[in-house]
Amino acid sequence: MVRSKLKRCVSCKEYGLGEKCNDCGNILEVVAPLKYSPEDPQGNRRRKRLDAGSKGWIESLPNTNIDEDLKDE
Ligand SMILES: [Zn+2]
Repeated sequence: MVRSKLKRCVSCKEYGLGEKCNDCGNILEVVAPLKYSPEDPQGNRRRKRLDAGSKGWIESLPNTNIDEDLKDE
């Protein structure tokens, strides 16, 4: 099944699926799927600065300490 791409009016920001806005007749632009939360637009940049995924970053995660605590019991 082919999914229609969600579009949004460049003028009034109304969502639609056709070529033009039902509301004002302006053109609709394709809304790209968001890779990250709209509440966190700088997330990717921040993760890059923290070097997320590197060995040092993984060791800095609190999960490691929790696992060691469990072994002692
Ligand atoms: Zn419109």
